[in-house]
Order: sequence, then structure tokens, then C-alpha cells
Amino acid sequence: MCTAAAWRKCEGSLAREATHPAGARCHLAVVDAHCHIDLYDDPAAVVREAEALGIRTIAVTNAPSVYHFTRQITERLQYVRPAAGLHPELVHSHGHELPLLLPLLEETRYVGEVGLDYVTTDDTIRARQREVFSTVVERCAALGGKVLTIHSRRAAADVIAIVGSNFPGKPILHWFSGTVKQLEAAAAAGFFFSVNTSMLSSKSGDALVRAMPVDRVLTETDGPFVRLGQRPSTPPDTALAVEALAAVWSISRTEAKQRIVDNLRSVVTP
Ligand SMILES: [Zn+2]
Repeated sequence: MCTAAAWRKCEGSLAREATHPAGARCHLAVVDAHCHIDLYDDPAAVVREAEALGIRTIAVTNAPSVYHFTRQITERLQYVRPAAGLHPELVHSHGHELPLLLPLLEETRYVGEVGLDYVTTDDTIRARQREVFSTVVERCAALGGKVLTIHSRRAAADVIAIVGSNFPGKPILHWFSGTVKQLEAAAAAGFFFSVNTSMLSSKSGDALVRAMPVDRVLTETDGPFVRLGQRPSTPPDTALAVEALAAVWSISRTEAKQRIVDNLRSVVTP
């Protein structure tokens, strides 16, 4: 995955390291399992860079009505793949788009952003989120082989229960923020976890990352929401997460990269 072209690009980016901290380390970037490509100021530039560097990027979308744009700009690309989703925080306003999402699940292997968000205390909205998420999970289970990138803020227990332990696909908990006990239950049920720099730099996030089985960890940016200084993070910044994971695992950066490569292989291999 670290091609000669990527290396050349990497060396070329040394000069701009001041504005792009991951620049010189970008050969460590393997996968961005959760990136909102369509929400950057210049989505095409972000896509071009990830593709040129060979960074496997799951371009999540928040509603079926905006999926088509991401599908269009990622058409014919090898590394950046579009994911069809319906963000739980948008279910109250865009839940009526569920019938648009279901046919999209048949055309893409990647599904997200989906899940539950219990920041809302409104029981009706929570119930509607569960209804939408359960429908998506059921359809994905029927189709088989889907890779899901899942939001679970304050709702990990229900997310794990809905997906279950026999899901015929690869569920990835993005930016997991539940308890260690819930994390263990998710790992036992077969979930993967994608971690970002923001998570790795917080004390609670670091404790969770240390509790994750090393063969279930992937990297993500959740860009453009996660920022690095003044700028939104982009797929090459997953190199910073690999570096931080190397420190957590007490191994070299090259070994940490290899683990992520192996984990990615487990996710993408049907
Ligand atoms: Zn997200």
C-alpha cells in the first residue's frame, strides 16, 4: 500500500510539514475508516490526495440524499469508497429518507454513518433512531458482507444489542466512547474499533484504546469534524494515529502500521 508514488509524494510533502503535520509521516497512513469527504471545503482535493497516497478511505455520508455526490466523486477510484448512511442525529429530520437508503445498501459494500445517539433525552426520537438503525442492520444482515461504520454515543449497549454477535459482516464502532465493559462486550461480539487523534489525546479515550484487542483496531479521522490546530484533519493524518498507537502498544511505528494493515485485511476480506 505504501507505493513508490506515495513515498515520492511523502517526500514532497516534507516542505509543507509546517502546515500539514502528518506530511512527513504520511507513509504510515493506511486507512481512514470514517471520513466525511462531502463536508470539506474542497472534497475533490481530499479525495485526490487519499487516492494518490493509497489510503483506504471510507467516505461516510449522513443522509441518502447526499450520498450521490460522494458516489460521483469517488467513481472509478480504488482506495476511496462511498458509504451510504443516515446519521442518528439526523433521524428526527431525515428519517423519512429511510426508503431511499435501503436500495443504496444493495449497491455499496460500505454503510455509514449509521447508529444511535442518546444525547437526546427524547424517548420518541430515541425509539425512531432504534427503528431506523434496526432496519438498516437487518437489511445489511440479509445482504451479507457489509462493512458498517457505526456511531454509538451514550448508546453503546443498544447498538451492540441491535447488531448482535452473529452479524454476517464487519461492524466498526467509530470513535467509541462507552465503558470498558461495553467495549469488551463489543469485542466479544466481533466488532472492530476505529480511533482518531482526538480520542488518542484524551485520557478517557486513551484508556479505551488500551482496552481494545490489538487485532480489532483501525484508524480514522472523522474529518472534517476533528481538527488539527486551525485545519480539519484529512486521511493522511491517520499517520498520527498510527504513531500514537505505536506508543500505546509499545512497538515501533512500522510494526503498528503492519498491525493496522493486517486488521484492515480482516475487515475487507469477505
Ligand atoms: Zn462522523
